[in-house]
Amino acid sequence: MRIKKVGVVGAGTMGSGIAALLASAGVPVVLLDIPGKDDPLEFVKRGLERAKKARPAAFMRKDRAALITIGNTRDDLELLGDVDWVIEAIIEKLEPKQELYARLEEVLPEHAIVSSNTSGIPMKALLEGRSDRFKKRFLGTHFFNPPRYLHLLEIIPTPHTDPAVLEAIENFGDRILGKGLVRAKDVPGFIANRLGVYGMLRAVALMEKHDLTIDEVDALTGPLIGRPKSAVFRTADLTGLDVLKMVAEELAHTTGEDFSLPDWVLKVIEGGCLGDKTKCGFYKKEGKEIYTLDWKTLEYRPRQKPKIPGVDEAKQLSLPKRIAAVLDLPGKYGAFLRDLFAVSSQYTLAKTPEIAYDVVSVDRALKWGFGWRMGPFEQMDAVGLDKTAELIEAAGLEKPELLAKAEGSFYKKEGASRQMLALEGGYVPVPELPGVIEIQTLKDAGKVVKESKDAGLYDLGDGVLLLEFRTKMGALGEGIFKMLDYGMKYIEQNDLAGLVIGREDERAFSAGANLALILMLAQEGEWDELEMAVKLFQKSTMRLREAPFPVVVAPFGLTLGGGAEMTLHADRVQAAAESYIGLVEVGVGLIPAGGGTKELLFRFTEDLAPYTGAMGAEADPFAAVKRAFEVIAMAKTSTSALEAFEIGYLQKGDRISMNKDRLIADAKQRVLDLAPDYVSPVRGKITALGKEALGNLKYAVWSFREAGQITDHEVRIASELAYVLSGGDGPRREVSEWDILDLEREAFLKLLGTRKTQERIAHTLKTGKTLRN
Ligand code: NAD
Repeated sequence: MRIKKVGVVGAGTMGSGIAALLASAGVPVVLLDIPGKDDPLEFVKRGLERAKKARPAAFMRKDRAALITIGNTRDDLELLGDVDWVIEAIIEKLEPKQELYARLEEVLPEHAIVSSNTSGIPMKALLEGRSDRFKKRFLGTHFFNPPRYLHLLEIIPTPHTDPAVLEAIENFGDRILGKGLVRAKDVPGFIANRLGVYGMLRAVALMEKHDLTIDEVDALTGPLIGRPKSAVFRTADLTGLDVLKMVAEELAHTTGEDFSLPDWVLKVIEGGCLGDKTKCGFYKKEGKEIYTLDWKTLEYRPRQKPKIPGVDEAKQLSLPKRIAAVLDLPGKYGAFLRDLFAVSSQYTLAKTPEIAYDVVSVDRALKWGFGWRMGPFEQMDAVGLDKTAELIEAAGLEKPELLAKAEGSFYKKEGASRQMLALEGGYVPVPELPGVIEIQTLKDAGKVVKESKDAGLYDLGDGVLLLEFRTKMGALGEGIFKMLDYGMKYIEQNDLAGLVIGREDERAFSAGANLALILMLAQEGEWDELEMAVKLFQKSTMRLREAPFPVVVAPFGLTLGGGAEMTLHADRVQAAAESYIGLVEVGVGLIPAGGGTKELLFRFTEDLAPYTGAMGAEADPFAAVKRAFEVIAMAKTSTSALEAFEIGYLQKGDRISMNKDRLIADAKQRVLDLAPDYVSPVRGKITALGKEALGNLKYAVWSFREAGQITDHEVRIASELAYVLSGGDGPRREVSEWDILDLEREAFLKLLGTRKTQERIAHTLKTGKTLRN
């Protein structure tokens, strides 16, 4: 079944965010809310406005909001008459939801699916009074806030749900909305909230028991143990303390378990401090200063960076080792972490059979919904099951049955296959995500063709090779180019289909060239070596395009500087929806010299060619130069892959994978599509405009300086850029790609030789920020 149009009822936090995600994916949406008193569209307009203004952005491209038709539930329900799926995201109360479904039954087309975004009302209760037909086409779809950014989508089928309906929604959720799907049982809180919120509340209680501060708990429960920086209390501030309280009360009520918040938290809430939305919660920001709540006195004090002995050493370890090692931190810190690990593990083990269909679903739910880098079962494996049992016993808790069933670990490897403990005992294969290629799986299956500390080459099967960057943040350097060279030759010698360039990481495809190395060489005056390094970079990017086989680059997350230049030189790009692509070199006082400047000039000039040829001279060729100049001089960075098309980093023929997990597999498929009739693209010369263009650009630069908008050094950087884009300061002339590449390289080296550029680089390396000197 094909889902072409979707209705969303309830335009609050979740409904408006879900509508924005759908529209971003290119799906027309009908968004409804209750009628307002004076303006019948008051609530829905407010919801849509909120999505438009949301930061981080809810829409992947602003103009996608046009795909949303709005209405109210009193007058406009018939707008849902031609939708294929309705997502209900109204107030978390049984009666209004039931009433809405009764009305939906009257207006929806026969085939339409209905799902609820409820966080906790049992599906069974929601379905009371509904027809069999409705029941067959109903299920739970639990999105997380904000829907664009949190990967998890919990799917809750009921015993009535038609398998075809389940399949349609899962397929759409995965491919079109890009979500990580986990099936959950119809129980309060499903998987992620039940376990995640429980763990948060226990951390609060254990903070009191071990006499720690909020700053200390957040230092112990963040990246140190593989969880987001926001740890326990910053996360609560982001979610809203009122929301946390509501979810906790609901869970306490429906499960009869201890989901209580201490009195002091309730007092903070009563005092109107609900987190970020009220500008105070567990933390408070005043100007640039951040204050932390002292939970004993309920006063705010300047935030302290806790000095916890042993933490710095632990940070050197890999995550699995670190998760085990921190349990031995000295004094109250180790005691807190041991207790937290014991209580959370015990609860997870005891509840899993009741809430999930298997252990991997639990791990995926917490990784995708709460941003943990390792799921609870993976963590227990890292700590060791004997030690886990010991800690649970030491905390005075009962040993859960599931732990007794495990033979040494929850996951095991058997050759290339990954096995997991089945809930009823014994081991079964981990259900792989269909159409997903994971690097660990390639390693386990012995698919490594060659590897070094900087890069890996893998056989993806069907004649496709993968080049993986292994450096921190995907920083590009000689090690990667050497591997690329090897891979290119390997493909030719073995007559393979083509190459994918991609990797797995939470944040970055590549944050660019290795700046520290560049700065060091510049400071040591190694100009010959630098010139060679830049040339190697240029040759490498050019080779991607010129190779006699297709090369598909698969960027995601931060794709900056050199990372963007590699992307620009792919035959085709398969980009993750969340791709932040930017030629940001001017920020460090340089210009793109791995072919980025050349490529935008050629690309934009070629785009204009049909309008500037012999048939007519309507378009001004300078428009292309100006466009490239603006993109590079302003270091434009896309906030999504969709926006990268607008800027010009992506072009016709490039594609988006909404689901990042599928990126490598989609890129491989792309190579296979291109391979049979592939010949490398032919690129001729273009006309460089020379001094005409240079004069125009310099005039613009000068006026920015006059207006005080840029510094003298920025004038210098912009002038070098203008020179390259004009192809020098002579008359108009025909230029090849290498003519411009040579200019790029020269300008880069000149700028690198200036004190101010070196200061910029040093500042960025130290602070991660831009110095506008
Ligand atoms: P919200 O209060 O922000 O928005 C609810 C919206 O529904 C409001 O705009 C309200 O005017 C509208 N509404 C109320 N009654 C209605 C009715 N009878 N018909 C049409 N519209 C009606 O709430 P929310 O946080 O967006 O939550 C919506 C649903 O999603 C709830 O079931 C909630 O449990 C669930 N949920 C929330 C979150 C979260 O983090 N906020 C996460 C997952 C699931």
